[in-house]
Amino acid sequence: MLHSGLEKLAKSFVYERAKPFANNELGNFVRRDLAIEARKHLIFLPFELKTKGSVGAGNWAAVPWLGFFDPLVTTTATKGFYVVYLVNPQTEEIFLSLNQGTTAVYREFGERKGRDILQRRAGDIRDRLPEFTANFDSDPIDLNSLESLPLGYQAGHAFGRKYEAGKINEKLFYADLERILYSYEALVDRGGTTPTDTMFEESGTQDIVETRKYFLSRRIERARNVRAAVIAQRSPICEACGLDPVKHYGFSGPQHNTPLEVHHMKPIHELAEGDSRRYRVPDDFLVLCPNCHKLIHTIEDTSNLKQLKSKVKFKYEPKYID
Ligand SMILES: [Zn+2]
Ligand SMILES: [Zn+2]
Repeated sequence: MLHSGLEKLAKSFVYERAKPFANNELGNFVRRDLAIEARKHLIFLPFELKTKGSVGAGNWAAVPWLGFFDPLVTTTATKGFYVVYLVNPQTEEIFLSLNQGTTAVYREFGERKGRDILQRRAGDIRDRLPEFTANFDSDPIDLNSLESLPLGYQAGHAFGRKYEAGKINEKLFYADLERILYSYEALVDRGGTTPTDTMFEESGTQDIVETRKYFLSRRIERARNVRAAVIAQRSPICEACGLDPVKHYGFSGPQHNTPLEVHHMKPIHELAEGDSRRYRVPDDFLVLCPNCHKLIHTIEDTSNLKQLKSKVKFKYEPKYID
């Protein structure tokens, strides 16, 4: 069970940390078994998340954790935003938290300023998710550590719940997990930690609902996991005009760096909050050159490749080449 696994981690971490890091049994338990236990709770959710447990990279961390990552946002705890259980081994407390990648922000702004920024963004997250914030605790969390990562986790905490190892109310524990994962997906749908002004700028409209949909659609089309898989499973040639960057532009880099784009055929206006993660790779996508991609977004049915093709008069046929 997930909750008992986390309790075990909270209760034995201080003791285990005195032992060598390499091949430590608790470390293996967190990385493998705990991550698998966590995945069992994702099976019935309408979105896909990755799970990862860590007791440190190469040596013991001050705060071990178990994270849930949406690949549209991040697959690592170093950047973006995600849901995580953070363990305070001194007090044997477990914090469920909607939190943020600390390392990337430190790298950009330095540690002091970085923490201010994480704290401000945590406030933005709460403001963007009022109905979820109301159901959780948003008081600061205390991880009993002056190390830079735990201080970053404290700053990046938007909201969550504290549990004490050995005293967990299972019903609340699992209801909290489900609810916070839904809040995570709602945050993805609503633009994450991107400022509203930036979203308006990119979408070209001032309608917040349309802007969020536009932004989400772009996030799906640009997500590394989606893009690379679609291009690999289809082929790196524009499906509308036939442009082949290798043949026509002498492009010679790795396939995932191709200047082609990936288009999500689900019309933006049909993207409803909550069902947005239901996309199929590669079926729901087209590989298009940037021009054809721009064009398909101007036709009414953005899944209508035939209509797009009929508009494209200039076709890259082998006869034009040489
Ligand atoms: Zn598109
Ligand atoms: Zn094209």
